Amino acid sequence: MSRRKMIYEGKAKILYEGPEAGTIVQYFKDDATAFNNEKHATLEGKGVLNNRISEFVMLGIGRIGIPTHFLKRLNMREQLVRKCEIIPLEVICRNVAAGSMSKRLGIEEGTPLSRPVVEFCLKNDELGDPLIAEEHITAFNWATPLEIDEMISMTLRINDYLCGMFAGVGIRLVDFKVEYGRHFDGENERTILADEISPDSCRLWDLETDEKLDKDRFRRDLGNVTEAYADVARRLGIMKESPTAIPANDEATS
Ligand code: UDP
Repeated sequence: MSRRKMIYEGKAKILYEGPEAGTIVQYFKDDATAFNNEKHATLEGKGVLNNRISEFVMLGIGRIGIPTHFLKRLNMREQLVRKCEIIPLEVICRNVAAGSMSKRLGIEEGTPLSRPVVEFCLKNDELGDPLIAEEHITAFNWATPLEIDEMISMTLRINDYLCGMFAGVGIRLVDFKVEYGRHFDGENERTILADEISPDSCRLWDLETDEKLDKDRFRRDLGNVTEAYADVARRLGIMKESPTAIPANDEATS
């Protein structure tokens, strides 16, 4: 049992109050959900892998000058992040048609797009995170025009960075989802990258074989989900040990 105050429990993560003001501890669970919670499973070791992969990706994104909420990894399942007010949008960037885009527009999955496409969805489970236009965002004050511009330009820079990073280890970045937050520092407010970037929130295909190395293995019952996440971590040079040896309640070891 944790001695800290829980702030929020989501589908794949739990947020606890951090040790210092303005910080939060983000705990990665082994739970996997899909189709708006209709499908659920526990995938042993997934939380450990996502914690490590997201740390690696956030640090890289920070190095190209994009502000993120990531402060440091605390142990196998937890990271310390900056507290921010989450903008209630899912920002999706696509390089190749797949998933909901293929279904909605009748474009065959795997069709390369002639330019990256950025889409916004409203974060609302009851409504199934509907696709929205920029006009909805400003009309309902979900974000300001400046924040929309910042989210689009940061997402496109993240896309360029991640495409190169994954291509270097033989992986095609098909699409991904990011979330942003408002970070308040005295008088100043700035938009920062929040949440996580992991195989739960990206579509990653092997460059040679098109084998899926992401959450579609769970959504589509392809099997070997954790093994695929571990393959991504191994290719990125992050993890050598087996994540399945680590118990779900591990908090103390690093
Ligand atoms: N995605 C996500 N969380 C969501 C919805 C989508 O992380 O709630 C990711 C998903 O893994 C994929 C990208 O965003 O990498 C685009 O997803 P899509 O709109 O195709 O939705 P899906 O087909 O997963 O319903």
